[in-house]
Amino acid sequence: MRVLKFGGTSVGSAERMRHVAELITKTSEPKIIVLSAVSGTTNKLVEIGELLSARSLEMAHLAIEKLFSEYQDLLKELLASNEMREIGEEVINNSFSLMKNYLKYPFGKSKNNELLAQGELLSTGLFNLYLAENGIDAQLISALDFMHLDENGEPSLEDISIKLQKVLENYPEQKLFITQGFICLNSEGDIDNLKRGGSDYTASLIGAALNAEEVEIWTDIDGMHNNDPRIVENTRAVQHLSFDEAAELAYFGAKILHPTSILPAQEREIPVRLKNTMNPEAPGTLIDNTGVTRTVKAVAAKDGITAIKIKSSRMLLAHGFLLKVFQIFDSFKTSIDLITTSEIAVSLTVDDTSHLDDIVLELEKLGSVEVDPEQTIICLVGNFIMENGEVVNNLFNALEKMPVRMISLGGSKNNISVLLPAAYKQQALKQINDVVFGLKVMEIEKD
Ligand code: ADP
Ligand code: ASP
Ligand code: MG
Repeated sequence: MRVLKFGGTSVGSAERMRHVAELITKTSEPKIIVLSAVSGTTNKLVEIGELLSARSLEMAHLAIEKLFSEYQDLLKELLASNEMREIGEEVINNSFSLMKNYLKYPFGKSKNNELLAQGELLSTGLFNLYLAENGIDAQLISALDFMHLDENGEPSLEDISIKLQKVLENYPEQKLFITQGFICLNSEGDIDNLKRGGSDYTASLIGAALNAEEVEIWTDIDGMHNNDPRIVENTRAVQHLSFDEAAELAYFGAKILHPTSILPAQEREIPVRLKNTMNPEAPGTLIDNTGVTRTVKAVAAKDGITAIKIKSSRMLLAHGFLLKVFQIFDSFKTSIDLITTSEIAVSLTVDDTSHLDDIVLELEKLGSVEVDPEQTIICLVGNFIMENGEVVNNLFNALEKMPVRMISLGGSKNNISVLLPAAYKQQALKQINDVVFGLKVMEIEKD
């Protein structure tokens, strides 16, 4: 079994959906196809949810109608026969009558999750009809029947595996399945999701749950680039990454992968391939555990970071101080990314600030507390790079004159992370491209 996930741009129009159908029918081995929502739809659903929460009903109504008409256009472009179009209308009406109902009743978190799920329900519903109209034998299965979260809001691989295999047993002859990325049920039985970009996570969870041969993440770029292509010109695709390298890049901001999407595949050692729908011939990036190299691979940046410094002379020659600090974060279920300590102070970073005020109140019992919001973690990744003095040297040269707030070296052999005010992110990524990857130098030499 192979698991192929197609992201929003890959299913972003009727033409793109036709292209996906071609790609998935090139070979006949068993496959599960995981689809995201049509690009832009989840953002629009988020906006509609915000309008509904704010009771801006007029605006919400207009936004729902606008999206509705976009789906009617997509339907006409995608399906040819009146008979199929009628079934397509039903798919669309199911989602949009639900949305219109939200205008009439109180709108809370669980309704919002139901609203966000409509994107993937629409894309898979319509794509499935396109396959049927074109004589391609496929079975649509609902992710809500197997993608379930536990009481901690985490997917359990064992549970997903049992439930998914039960679903598949209903179709012993079937070779091609279509399902939704992103959406799931929580432990209360309500519709929930795996957070933004979560379709990658769905694919990896399915791959691991079924011990698939490979998970393929099809997107709009030819693999993991060595730097953020939205910010830096002259980036290049990395052909091979180890699971650890890919997991760090995803976690520290490489948008091509959802932050935790590599972990299930890594746990079961399922190779993950990143491929470009627009350029299927390009090799893309292979993520597995073969041929680990010792070179620097890529840099990523994670925004929205808050740094917290706790200073206390009570730390001096005392033990147990860090334990008390960690307990405070633990009691508010807030995880810490980076940490640096000195004899009388500890600095750490968080990205979830939902309990920040309470955390600071508690920390102030231990010492003075400084909070710096709007920071960015710049994370350089490559197996064993911390043992490579030249890379470390180049990184610090690249960041010369920048107000580096924290440096984390040695936490893992695969990454060096620095914390900078967010305003320096672009400059830092560009200079790292020049100095660490030598990409600007190469271009000048070519000229
Ligand atoms: P999809 O909708 O297919 O899930 P995403 O938009 O989530 O696609 O991810 C692909 C995008 O990630 C690319 O178009 C690119 O702009 C962005 N991106 C950010 N960092 C990287 C990187 N290091 N390598 C490749 N793409 C990256
Ligand atoms: N549609 C969801 C999002 O836009 C999930 C995904 O595309 O991976 O975040
Ligand atoms: Mg994505």
